[in-house]
Amino acid sequence: MFIDTHCHFDFPPFTDHLADSIAKIRQADIVGLIIPAVSANYFDTVLQLTDDYNEIYAALGLHPIYQHTMVDLERLTDIVKTKPNKLIAIGEIGLDRYDLSIDWQQQLSFFRSQLALAKQFDLPVLIHSRKAHDIMYHELHRANLPCRGVIHGFSGSYQQAMQFVKLGYYIGVGGVISYERANKTRNTIAQLPLESLVLETDAPDMPLSGRQGQINRPEYIAEVFKILTQLRNESAEHIMHTILANTLTLFSRLNRAKITQRN
Ligand SMILES: [Zn+2]
Repeated sequence: MFIDTHCHFDFPPFTDHLADSIAKIRQADIVGLIIPAVSANYFDTVLQLTDDYNEIYAALGLHPIYQHTMVDLERLTDIVKTKPNKLIAIGEIGLDRYDLSIDWQQQLSFFRSQLALAKQFDLPVLIHSRKAHDIMYHELHRANLPCRGVIHGFSGSYQQAMQFVKLGYYIGVGGVISYERANKTRNTIAQLPLESLVLETDAPDMPLSGRQGQINRPEYIAEVFKILTQLRNESAEHIMHTILANTLTLFSRLNRAKITQRN
């Protein structure tokens, strides 16, 4: 039983073949899938998907690599205030120092405003942190969010990951660990406390090794899980159980009753 904590299911090809895409995630035993919106244009689509399908949950946010306006931020605030049932996190938000053409002050300002929003409404955050782990750590430390969140698509050293873990954040484990050359990240994920891990695919992005250039899909989460079990010492059963518990602890608004019923 899986929960994909980060899947852009509001993008094609999923939205072009919705019935088929939903059937596939059900076959793959995915009992929960969190869609993080990346800009205000997607808010309505994401919320509609949560209305239409039991296993779909929403995170709304303004992603650091896209352009946003103050109107977008107000719109996000207005929606969060209405407390939609299946809105369970703020995201995808963060900091990106990879593409230096993006206005840094603006990134930082939108990020801080959204952390404040998460704090005000007791919501966890889905964090994008690329080439920005040190400053990200400082920002999260300063923000001191009650619900913490996930460092999504983590790639980096054990020390970097442990800083976030000590702050109470979870580490999102995805397709990166399928790449032999991602040795540093694989070793990190092998050593981190199991209690700090959640699973994600970031589909349609981040294809697994062997599928480069192809579209990633949420149902491949089973393969991410399998690789994780190969990296870790614990039994597959224990890993599955712990990760599910981690996910339900962090996203306390996931419909726990419904998810455990199927267990
Ligand atoms: Zn993403």
